[in-house]
Amino acid sequence: MAKAGFVTSITRQSEDFPAWYNDVVRKAELADYSPVRGCMIIRPYGYAIWESMRDELDRHIKRTGHQNVYFPLFVPRSLLEKEAEHVEGFNPQVAWVTHAGGEELNEWLAIRPTSETLIAEVVKDWIQSYRDLPLLMNLWNNVVRWELRTRLFLRTTEFLWQEAHTFHATEQEAVDEVATGLEAYRSVAEDWLAIPVIKGRKTENEKFPGAVYTLAVEALMRDGKALQAGTSHMLGQNFARAANIEFLDRDNERKNPHGTSWGFSTRMVGATIMAHGDDSGLVLPPNVAPVQVVIVPIFRSDEDRTAVAGAIKPLEAALRDSRRTLPDGRTEPVRFQVDWREETPGFKYNHWELRGVPFRLEVGPRDVAAEQGMLVKRIDRSKEPVPLDRLAAELPDRLDAYQREIFGRAVAFRDDNTHRIDEYDDFKRVLDEQPGFVLAPWCGDSACEKQISTDTGATIRIVPLDQSDEPGACLRDGRPSRQPALFARAY
Ligand SMILES: [Zn+2]
Repeated sequence: MAKAGFVTSITRQSEDFPAWYNDVVRKAELADYSPVRGCMIIRPYGYAIWESMRDELDRHIKRTGHQNVYFPLFVPRSLLEKEAEHVEGFNPQVAWVTHAGGEELNEWLAIRPTSETLIAEVVKDWIQSYRDLPLLMNLWNNVVRWELRTRLFLRTTEFLWQEAHTFHATEQEAVDEVATGLEAYRSVAEDWLAIPVIKGRKTENEKFPGAVYTLAVEALMRDGKALQAGTSHMLGQNFARAANIEFLDRDNERKNPHGTSWGFSTRMVGATIMAHGDDSGLVLPPNVAPVQVVIVPIFRSDEDRTAVAGAIKPLEAALRDSRRTLPDGRTEPVRFQVDWREETPGFKYNHWELRGVPFRLEVGPRDVAAEQGMLVKRIDRSKEPVPLDRLAAELPDRLDAYQREIFGRAVAFRDDNTHRIDEYDDFKRVLDEQPGFVLAPWCGDSACEKQISTDTGATIRIVPLDQSDEPGACLRDGRPSRQPALFARAY
């Protein structure tokens, strides 16, 4: 008795991954298309997932000494064009405001694609002395990049993100800061979203326009494609020089500060869907799940309904008082919901499985008589009868175990789908037959990298940081390679 318009079935993941993804996003009511092409409306359930990762990252950012600030949406054209290399990288993607107040503007205003140039322009008044450094700022905002091909959460014309912008007296401090940003992203991805990531350095082709170098964390999705889960850029003195930011150092010399910037966006909602989901829909890590346990009362008669409600009531009270300890030591009650809707149990099971709720507790009249409920685990649908008076006390540990299990499963999937390859023919075959990460020797040449991408559709995601030198021969041209690079087809 599914309601008209509510489609309970979704495309199978193995049949058509992109169609599966769209079904999950739309039918789990995470996001919707907007009247403006390429923009998205984030619905309450999707926004709650975003808020959870946003808040966790915000705690990291503040714990490491950064402060939140706000800068305007509009960037004057002259500022954006100050840093030629930077603007070239964004050129076709920038949306411009040309008219306002009923007139053509003297100077066009860009809708920020990112805030580097605007910030550099403003902070030159704030940074006068080494005592004003480091300046550690973070912005939570929206940016616009005119994308031709868009997909909900993964690539949208407007998206929400965080951009940190920092200025330092010495190069080493900036280098350390780039690593701090990257570690925040690793922690949120792995410890919060249960998505294992690999840290590495982007190639010259792939680095942020205008940066000295870019570090990134890369994750593997369940279709074997890679997704960049956060980037951290060493800007060096490039932007400071272009904007004329100078400070008087301890040695009484005027110097340009060293800058960094790092960003994490609503793409990570898409990553969470694609790293864990299955044929029934979302599989959410408990840390981020808006509902961690759903209680489904099962009844036919009013008499049964009353009995079930009576058994659930003390459980609800106990759950409200429950405390689960989070990775940083904070505690919070278990997030639960009781589904009393006038629908069949089967309808409700589908509804909550689609939404990835970690645990479902079924309570019917026979369970009430036995003072228990049937606890069903979303990740493998395993069932276990549990005493109702013990559940609230046990759930925090069960959620912790579930969080570890989902991470372990993702690590195993990634390891099973990471291939070590030396020959170009093998490389092409594996990308087609068993997509995933491919570690392969590369000579370090940009033209060679581009040719590999043209030949195979795979790009160098990163050169992993945590690997020792491993001399070899470039898989395409045989020239010497110092370390393997991590290749994949990517989102
Ligand atoms: Zn090569």
